[in-house]
Amino acid sequence: TVVTRFAPSPTGFLHIGGARTALFNWLYARHNGGKFLLRIEDTDRERSTDEAIQAILDGMKWMGLDWDGDPVYQFSRRDRHVEVANQLLADGNAYYCYASKEELAEMREKAREEGRPPGYDGRWRDRDPSEVPEGVSPVVRFKSPNEGSTVIQDAVQGNVTIANAQLDDLILLRADGTPTYMLSVIVDDHDMGVTDIIRGDDHLTNAARQLQLYHALGWDAPRMAHIPLIHGPDGAKLSKRHGALGIEAYRDMGYLPEAMRNYLLRLGWSHGNDEIISTEQAIEWFNLENIGKSAARFDFDKLENLNGHYIREGDNAYLASLVRPVLAQKTGENVTDEQISLIEKAMNGLKERAKSVISLAESSLFLIAKRPLALDSKAEKLLDADAAAILSRVADALEGLSGWEKEMLEATVRECAESEGLKLGKIAQPLRAALTGTTVSPGIFDVLEVLGRDEAIGRIRDAAK
Ligand code: GLU
Repeated sequence: TVVTRFAPSPTGFLHIGGARTALFNWLYARHNGGKFLLRIEDTDRERSTDEAIQAILDGMKWMGLDWDGDPVYQFSRRDRHVEVANQLLADGNAYYCYASKEELAEMREKAREEGRPPGYDGRWRDRDPSEVPEGVSPVVRFKSPNEGSTVIQDAVQGNVTIANAQLDDLILLRADGTPTYMLSVIVDDHDMGVTDIIRGDDHLTNAARQLQLYHALGWDAPRMAHIPLIHGPDGAKLSKRHGALGIEAYRDMGYLPEAMRNYLLRLGWSHGNDEIISTEQAIEWFNLENIGKSAARFDFDKLENLNGHYIREGDNAYLASLVRPVLAQKTGENVTDEQISLIEKAMNGLKERAKSVISLAESSLFLIAKRPLALDSKAEKLLDADAAAILSRVADALEGLSGWEKEMLEATVRECAESEGLKLGKIAQPLRAALTGTTVSPGIFDVLEVLGRDEAIGRIRDAAK
């Protein structure tokens, strides 16, 4: 069975690239009926924070990317990582290196002069232990092969061949005995039974080093898929301004997780010309073959369009529940259940125009506003003395109704217009201003119906004063 994992380092927020990596791993596992594991790579004790861990867990939950089992915390597995380093030492695949800081600096300088990438020159690889200096804590290095080459059979990049001579003897254990990233990753992936690694192509060189380690340990290496990174709309590295934000920033901007999933899926994966792909379809269709081979470009307009789509398709009660905290924040007041059910009733009209949960909340504000309504300047202009007189007669007519259904409301307002000799719009516009305090809103008869008899007539009378 397929086992994938997402392995973020908790040194910052869950950014958009990480969220896409998580999504692809999740989809691949779900498509194959396999497992999706979460590993928090918290071995950098200085830079890892609890807030970052929480942001990652929250972000994953918000995206609906449920992982199997408990998250694995990499730092807690350090004894096991050391054990594997010792095994490599015992097998002659690793050695103690006593090179001093000065020696390493010299090596770097020499490499720079000769125009090659910096690397350790292997001076302690085969050295006699009798030469060991006193009082120096050594690091443990991997005795990586010098001859031949390592081939990454990558599902996205194809076969990538790296000459072994280019890969120096990397450190497995630091002088203080702590394991390095490269060692921890392969031990954890192996022990967690990971079959497929899907991650950003910035890890491609690491992959070659990791394959060498798998080989030395006699372990089967996972299959690999390195996906091109996300670029900005201008083709350059993704910047903050162009969307390199934490996933919670997108939530706060009012994007739905459904839209985010669809958007991130299409950012680097395709299914013919399909743009709108539900999560169910994504699980059914996801494969590694259709991951794009070139960097995808981030496009806010596309994301916004998708968001509008998922808002229009969204369940009204669900949307109302998303609007709730935004309204509470905007009004600084507790939002009641009655208010939320009012908003839910008006949702069909509200969601037609909305591009985000924020705009949905803004256009709902009039529903829960208290009388007398604050009017915007356009609404105020509409409500002149003539309009007041007409609205007063409209209120009388509405008051005579025995029910409060949209059809009879519409018929009554139309009758008023006819008897006044006015076009419907001439009444509907001030009516909208009176009922909403603005000049844009869902259909006016929907608004009348949803507000209910007492509130609607009260608002009209306020405006008719
Ligand atoms: N922790 C690494 C990162 O956040 C990912 C390691 C991996 O996927 O192998 O970049």
